[in-house]
This record gives sequence, structure tokens and C-alpha cells, in this order.
Amino acid sequence: MSRVKLTDVTKQYDDVTAVDNMNLDLNDGEFICLVGPSGCGKSTTLETIAGLTKPTSGEILIGDREVTNLPPKDRGIAMVFQNIALFPHMDVYDNISFGLRLRSFPQDEMDERVEEAARIVRMEGMLDRMPSEMSGGQRQRVAIARAIVRDPEVFLMDEPLANLDAKLRVNMRTELQRLHKQLDTTIIYVTHNQAEAMTMSDRIAVLNKGELQQIAPPLTCYNQPANRFVAGFIGSPSMNFFDATVGDDTLDANGYSISFDATAIDGVASGDAVDVGIRPEDLYLTTNSAEARDPSATFAVETDVLEPMGDEIFVYLKPILDPDDGGEAADFEERQGLLMSVDPATDIGEDEDVEIVFDRAQIHLFDDRTGDAISHGVVADANVEAVDDGVQAD
Ligand code: ADP
Repeated sequence: MSRVKLTDVTKQYDDVTAVDNMNLDLNDGEFICLVGPSGCGKSTTLETIAGLTKPTSGEILIGDREVTNLPPKDRGIAMVFQNIALFPHMDVYDNISFGLRLRSFPQDEMDERVEEAARIVRMEGMLDRMPSEMSGGQRQRVAIARAIVRDPEVFLMDEPLANLDAKLRVNMRTELQRLHKQLDTTIIYVTHNQAEAMTMSDRIAVLNKGELQQIAPPLTCYNQPANRFVAGFIGSPSMNFFDATVGDDTLDANGYSISFDATAIDGVASGDAVDVGIRPEDLYLTTNSAEARDPSATFAVETDVLEPMGDEIFVYLKPILDPDDGGEAADFEERQGLLMSVDPATDIGEDEDVEIVFDRAQIHLFDDRTGDAISHGVVADANVEAVDDGVQAD
């Protein structure tokens, strides 16, 4: 196992900056996921660590060695890719031992290593199977065993589960975590799947457009996203966002005006435009407002589409504008609708008038221009809280 450090690593392809001044400092034995949308620079970052791509500038350390200009074979790494490239004419033993044979390992040591690796990936007793006789998951396990026998300091994995069906992906996710525990090796794992990143990693590095947005434990990215991009990318379904203006003691948006104390938060002042974020599970029907840590006043909304998921129901909500003027439900897209998640036993239908509260403790504020987080959670304005929480409050 080994520490991996990237200092100011940039990779430029003509007019595309695939990796933009990346700084990463990964601890010995850490499981790190590089996560982000397609094209954000995850694979290129991994390839610079592997030595498959030379960075335009910057420095890479593996362990205590600078490896920026070393070929892949001298870096102490092993890679597992999305496309499981097993040799079709070789059985499991020969596929796993291929690299060792190239390096002329003695037969008994090779046998020992192959058997140990096969045991770790639960393929023992299948060493004479051919790839055509194996499932996708088994083939991927052989590919992982082939990486294990090399006894690398660092495992680099690029979407290794992407070609597997959904159920197998979940199984393999657990197996990789078990493997990590057992080997105690640094693993750098590329995925565009935020659920995979959340469940497996010690820390997630979230990338966008070649730039590192945040590197932190999964729950920190979830609860304290560094910016609007991370807030929207981590979590499924995504966080709700809407534009708001900071009032003297309220946060004002189309249809909602939430009492809050701007003086309690550094970086906002009356008149500022902000992006407000709130997750679907932090909105509550008024009847369940006791579940919120700090419920706001009640707002009238109309339900749009319902999506029953089994363990929860997603409810699309349309705010009611100008409630004092008779009120009319806004279009979902046009007027900043909200997605709320409710318990499956909730008695709720489509096109119904309902009342909701926001959990003020879970309201995130982002800078309207830069997208940087200003606050995770807001507090009510002490002077007005008892009187009136918002324009629609009773
Ligand atoms: P990801 O793995 O996050 O999908 P990549 O690292 O593959 O993203 O790509 C990052 C960006 O760099 C993309 O815009 C991609 O088109 C570009 N890119 C990657 N490899 C090359 C290449 N060999 N030549 C030119 N552009 C490339």
C-alpha cells in the first residue's frame, strides 16, 4: 500500500483541458473514488497516475517516489478496466498468471500467488475454466485476481463494474469493499455512478470540467457540499434548487418566504441573490412537520406527478403563486417546482392541494455567481419567528 500525491497536474489536449491543476493527496490504504459526469477528466487523471498518459505539467508521487516520467510497469500499480480483457484461449489460471509468466516467476511461487488471488476473488476451484464458460461477474473477478497477483502498491480501477447488470454491480460493490479490507491496499476507483462512490469510498473526489470540486468522506460531500455542483451531483434524487433573494429577515423566492437570520451567516447581506438548495427528504408535509429539526412556516403547494418507489414516494410539487390573490399553481419546470420524498404509507394523490414545511436546518445557500457554498442550514430570525414565518403562514 502507498500514498499517492498529485501536485498541480494538468493535461491539455489541443484546446481541451482534460485535467486542470489537480491536487490530490491520498493516504496509504485509502479507497478513493474519482466521481463526476462523463468527460470531467476522471479517466485522464487515472491514466496520468498509471503512466498511460503523460501530464502536460505537474508532479506525481507514489509512495516516496516521483513517478511522473516512469513507465507504467515501474510504478507499482495494477489496473482493472471496464472492458474485461481476458485472453479467450486461456483458462483462469493462465489468465491470472499471465503477467507473472512474462516476468519468469518460479512455478511454485506462481501457483501460490494464483491460488491466493483466486481464493480472494472466490474463484478457487475454477482455475481450469475458460472465459467462455464464465459469467460477466466471474470474468471481472478474474481480471481483479490478475491485478492482485502482481501485489501492487496501488490498484487503479476505471469503471470496472460498468458492463455488469444492476444486481451484479451491487454484489461486486460489496466484494470490492471486502477485497479492500482484506488487502489493505490503496485503491483509486473511477466511476460516474455516485451511488457506487458513496457506498465504497473512504473519501470521494468530485470532479467537474477537469477541476477538483471537493475531496471528502461521502457523508461530508452529502451534508456539506462545497458548492452547488457537488450538491447537485451527490444524492439521488438530486437536491432541489431555486433562486431566492435575501430580505431583512427572510429568504424570498417564488411562492416561499422563509424566516431566517442573515446576520447569523457570514457572506450574505440583505438584497443578495442566492441559490437555495434543499434535498427531497428535507421537505415535509405539514402533518409530519414534527420530523423536521427546525420546521419553517407552512406553504401551500399543489402535487403534480407521484412516483411510488416502494420504500418511499417521490412527489413533484408546484408552488402556488400569489396566494393572497386567489393563488394559481405554477408550472412545474417554469416556476421552480420541488421534489419531495414521503413515506409510502402517506395518503397523497396527484393534483391535490397540500401544505409543506422546509426543514430550515437543512437549507443550503450557495453564492448565486460562483456556486460556492455559503451555509449548510439556516436559523430563524429570533425576532419574527414566533409571529410569522412566511408570506403564506397562518
Ligand atoms: P471521463 O473519464 O471523466 O469521462 P476523460 O478523462 O475521458 O473524462 O476526458 C476528459 C476530457 O478530455 C474530455 O473532454 C475528452 O474528450 C478529452 N480527452 C480525453 N482523452 C483525449 C485524447 N486522447 N485526445 C483529445 N481529447 C481527449
